[in-house]
Amino acid sequence: MMTDPYDTAAPLNYDLVLRSRRTTLPDGERPAAVAIAGERIALIGDYDEPLPAHRTEDLHDLALLPGLVDTHVHVNEPGRTEWEGFATATRAAAAGGVTTIIDMPLNSLPPTVDTTALAAKRAAANGKAWVDVGFWGGAIPGNDADLEGLRDAGVFGFKCFTAPSGVDEFPPLSVPELRRACATVAALDSVLIVHAENPEHLHATGAAPGFDRFLASRPVEAETSAIREVVNAAKDTGARVHILHLAAADALDAIDEARQGGVDISVETCPHYLTLAAEDIPDRATAFKCCPPIRGGANREALWAGLIGGRIDFVVSDHSPSPPHMKTDDFATAWGGIASVQLGLPLIWTEARRRGLTLGDVARWMSTATADFAGLDRKGRIAAGADADLVAFDPERAWTVRAEDLLHRHPVTPYDRRELTGAVVSTWLRGKRIDTEAAPRGRQLRRSPR
Ligand code: ZN
Repeated sequence: MMTDPYDTAAPLNYDLVLRSRRTTLPDGERPAAVAIAGERIALIGDYDEPLPAHRTEDLHDLALLPGLVDTHVHVNEPGRTEWEGFATATRAAAAGGVTTIIDMPLNSLPPTVDTTALAAKRAAANGKAWVDVGFWGGAIPGNDADLEGLRDAGVFGFKCFTAPSGVDEFPPLSVPELRRACATVAALDSVLIVHAENPEHLHATGAAPGFDRFLASRPVEAETSAIREVVNAAKDTGARVHILHLAAADALDAIDEARQGGVDISVETCPHYLTLAAEDIPDRATAFKCCPPIRGGANREALWAGLIGGRIDFVVSDHSPSPPHMKTDDFATAWGGIASVQLGLPLIWTEARRRGLTLGDVARWMSTATADFAGLDRKGRIAAGADADLVAFDPERAWTVRAEDLLHRHPVTPYDRRELTGAVVSTWLRGKRIDTEAAPRGRQLRRSPR
């Protein structure tokens, strides 16, 4: 007689039960037990509830958080793997408690602007990723007809620039091209994610050792005026749009107004804008260079207020490394990009804790909201049915960043020697602790239709 192996009267043994007195659940932090069957969370129980399991780990006072979902990571493979590749980026991500990344369509070669390039990306990532990986497509002048194929192949949406991107093969859209891309993206029921700086407000930096000249070359108006163009294009076409890496808090008024007017718009910022200030950046310290630039301390505080007030939707790394030789000592010529995928959680927690905010706030900004933005309904929360992507985090441990200990490809980061509070202890991907000595288990994700 055939027996159904799934229909058993024997009591279920969960594969793993994790207990923590500080479990960050969607409705707040409390002592709980998280029972995992296979790759998913099966049940949330009380902390001391007896639950039959093959393995049980008691994390005691370590916090248990949902794995971070970082929707803004530049991996650069294939083509510029010497800048950053899937193996190095995802190893760093896992060490930082990030269990899902969505890769940006530029600085790899080819850029992800058609399905052939997406296939090259997928082939390059295959078997190398320690965390789950999805892909953004790119919208550049002339590739409008390629967006539908990319959407059907599972990209999470389309990135464009309104100003030069830093690499010639990924040119910006003019205002008419931006409007056209919005119309296409609206027809595809996708999202256009925009690097919004208006090139008419960008100036030459000139040779100067100080950060102030670079900052002056990319003023607040460059962001605010470009964001107004994006809002207008979204309003006229019905497109869903997203503002990447907001640096200028002044732009929040225009974004609020757009939302109130029914525009489907969201906005992110990054750890560097929330933890650093222009006036503290040393001369020639180009590890701090990114675009738009890190602005002054008062602006940083306004960004925190925007985040706390829900005017900024979430926080992502914009991890964008380069080899050390491209970080020259000249702000005019150095690569613009900050490497930080491994540090986002402790950076944001260090500041959030000082401001009286909770781990639940941090989990919402860096995991739940980003998962929702990407349409990843099984990611970003500790709840029955979700993927068992989890992080054990010691919220009290003080430590000092050493660039040479970070796991992305090159030991360049503006946070070298910075003192932080809070450290990642373990990261689980779909039910198993990530082990970088073993074969990578990361999967490639596709956006499912809304
Ligand atoms: Zn970026």
